[in-house]
Amino acid sequence: MRKHLLSSAFLIFASVTASATAQAQTMGDPLAIGGKDTDWFMGRVNRPDLDSEPQEPFKIMGNVYYVGANNIASILVATPEGHILIDTGTHKMAAVVFPNIVKLGFMPADIKVMLISHAHYDHMETMERIRRLTGATVAALEAEVPSLVTGHDFGRNETWGHEPIEVGRVLQSGDEIRLGGSTVKVIWTPGHTPGTATYFVDTVENGQTYQIVYGGPPAPVTGDPMYDTRPADVFNAYAALREMSPDIRIVGHPQSLFDGKLEALWAESRPSPLTMEPGQWARLIDNAEADFRRRLAE
Ligand SMILES: [Zn+2]
Repeated sequence: MRKHLLSSAFLIFASVTASATAQAQTMGDPLAIGGKDTDWFMGRVNRPDLDSEPQEPFKIMGNVYYVGANNIASILVATPEGHILIDTGTHKMAAVVFPNIVKLGFMPADIKVMLISHAHYDHMETMERIRRLTGATVAALEAEVPSLVTGHDFGRNETWGHEPIEVGRVLQSGDEIRLGGSTVKVIWTPGHTPGTATYFVDTVENGQTYQIVYGGPPAPVTGDPMYDTRPADVFNAYAALREMSPDIRIVGHPQSLFDGKLEALWAESRPSPLTMEPGQWARLIDNAEADFRRRLAE
């Protein structure tokens, strides 16, 4: 009897030790099969996705529309020669973005160019499928291409699981994407991922030109030798962003930005409730740069 109890206790102890050892090996080798990638993916598919819920689309300004979900953005620039789509969202958002484009009176088949804010699954995991369906060209900043074409995030998150994307045009910071009289300018804002992009779209409404920015100052990594963002790249980004003077800002996860404003956005109230206050853009960059300098000094 006593011997039996002892051996049960030993078995329990042995199995706890074995799983702890397996976990340690997993953490130590991110590329091990059954390792960090799989853990991340299982965590992702088991987690309720509350950010991809359907939301009615609206005109942001001029020919620029919000076609994304309740808390993951997707932006359509509609032109007479076809459309530019910036970010496509999660798999779940396949049932959001296309219906929203159709509700606005446009055809998903007319998407000619697709752009990516950054290579995290929640902003682009449906992009390759949409590219194949529409034949659109995916244009991406050079620093993000390795991640897009392999399906791996080479930033600190090391997320995994998007279908590798065929990139048809490689962009450099400051490049302009032109289609049907519209222009989108890209600025490289590295940190959140190596090739995170911020886009500026000029649009005309009632004879007046407005600039819409999607993104913002970089979120550089410091204190992690493997992924630290090069300070020179970050300071270049601040300088390039300061040259711009956007009127309206949209962010990748806009739920709090849209909070209390959706009725006015659907009604196309003017001035847009998303209009930035005077000096807000400059303050945003100043604060981000001060924070980065503080972290570099530490
Ligand atoms: Zn992200």
